[in-house]
Amino acid sequence: MKTVWLVIPCYNEEEVIAETAKRTSELMYGLIKKNKISESSRIAFVNDGSTDRTLELIQRFCGEDKIFACINLSRNRGHQNALLAGLMTAKEYADAVISLDADLQDDIGVIEKFIDEFSGGSDIVYGVRADRKTDSRIKRATAEGFYKFMRLMGVDIVFNHADYRLMSKRAIEGLAQFDEVNTFLRGIVPQIGYPSSIVEYSREKRFAGKSKYPFKKMCSFAMEGITSFSVRPIKMALALGMLSFLVSIFMLLYCIVEHSLGNTVSGWASLGVSIWAIGGLQLLMIGVVGEYVGKIYLETKHRPKYIIESVILDGEKHDGRKEA
Ligand code: UDP
Ligand code: MG
Repeated sequence: MKTVWLVIPCYNEEEVIAETAKRTSELMYGLIKKNKISESSRIAFVNDGSTDRTLELIQRFCGEDKIFACINLSRNRGHQNALLAGLMTAKEYADAVISLDADLQDDIGVIEKFIDEFSGGSDIVYGVRADRKTDSRIKRATAEGFYKFMRLMGVDIVFNHADYRLMSKRAIEGLAQFDEVNTFLRGIVPQIGYPSSIVEYSREKRFAGKSKYPFKKMCSFAMEGITSFSVRPIKMALALGMLSFLVSIFMLLYCIVEHSLGNTVSGWASLGVSIWAIGGLQLLMIGVVGEYVGKIYLETKHRPKYIIESVILDGEKHDGRKEA
């Protein structure tokens, strides 16, 4: 029988975490009873440097029930890094790991389907949103626009799939070989390969607490995704350059013709417009190139993506360095 770990990144989730622990443990015990997963399966909360009572609550759950584990990061590193820390720790013990959010927006009812797909031979099972009825209109439009834009920019991602997925041990070992510091998991995971499948689910509203992904953060997340997986924006500079060069040739021909006809090309307005247009374009493209240069700078430093302070497993606390 397979050992399955749930990995749940948590940042200031004191309002939801008790309910999450209750619902996920009921589910896991149900699956253990049905002989779908082994008794050594665990629910691991990754505390991503919460400033509220989240850690205290997780520690209490770990003390009460051995099914819970705690991976405590040394500080807040963001959702993606917290998730990564969880996956890398869990892969040492589990045959498969399922990642989900603490707010249970992703229907945990389909976890059994994930496990069935895994037993059927899939190394990666993507949870894909069947609809977005519960999202606000703005959230839906921006989120769907996000996936379309990413595709347009040449990033290979699974449409409407966020970070709700199952990964086998060998898939996570594959993931571990990608040692870039700009973690954009939904871009990296499809590149790992191995057999994969899709399970549809409906996304609920957050049952308590606030979203930690306001609009601004979402934009920078999208930017991360594009610049980490595609060089199309830089290539666009070439196309734009050629286009404006063509325009300038036409302008030149036009001026020569007008001059030979005895006319002076009139107006400073056209000149003013071109200065702004070309200047703007150049600055824009320097900015785009700058984004990539900045990325290279960050990558060359090879800074750690996260530091684990401590791990609680089977009710016992371990030092972070040993990865439990
Ligand atoms: N999260 C985290 N670190 C952060 C921000 C968020 O671990 O710095 C976790 C958060 O606790 C939640 C998940 O990432 O479990 C998704 O966050 P949220 O629900 O706020 O995002 P949304 O669903 O609104 O996109
Ligand atoms: Mg959420």
